[in-house]
Amino acid sequence: MNLAVFIDSKILFSLIDEGNTSLKSPGFESIVSLINNLKGLGFLIIVISHYKYRVSSLEMQIRHNNEVKLLKNVFNVDFILTCPHDNDDDCYCRKPRPGLVYEAAHRWDIDLSHSFVIGDSWEDAKLAESAGCFSVLIQSSRIVRCHRDILVTDLESAFSMVMKVSGLFMKTKVKPQLPLTSQRLEC
Ligand SMILES: [Zn+2]
Repeated sequence: MNLAVFIDSKILFSLIDEGNTSLKSPGFESIVSLINNLKGLGFLIIVISHYKYRVSSLEMQIRHNNEVKLLKNVFNVDFILTCPHDNDDDCYCRKPRPGLVYEAAHRWDIDLSHSFVIGDSWEDAKLAESAGCFSVLIQSSRIVRCHRDILVTDLESAFSMVMKVSGLFMKTKVKPQLPLTSQRLEC
């Protein structure tokens, strides 16, 4: 089975200037390097996305599709899965529901219990919990009262924690019991 890191699209978007590939963040190159390191360890890097605009507008759909293609090119991610619905549609694939993660698991034979969700909101945390993945959350005001396995300050630390935790279970072949650090919080 494969392992995966699921990551929210807006986190990657925040590192680049949408519309072109000019760099926004000084840590951009190290992020690309960390992604490549994880791929080298056998992880699939899968972006979870949803339309930022109402799907009734074809123009907006095209704009969205171009933006996610940009993510693929810039960050060398493997796949991008998009929920095409609106908030009001009450679909199973829009976060925090785990439909897209289950779809990925089915399509690419992913072991969710040893995979990770990186995010910065309670929806990401809930998604990870529902799908049975580790949650690695980046501190933000969108994390409210929710369960998370690991809390970090930035994306670079998030990828580093994925490597640290996965290194443990690859060595022992057993899923480690969190908390690994004092950063695990329940609230
Ligand atoms: Zn959906």
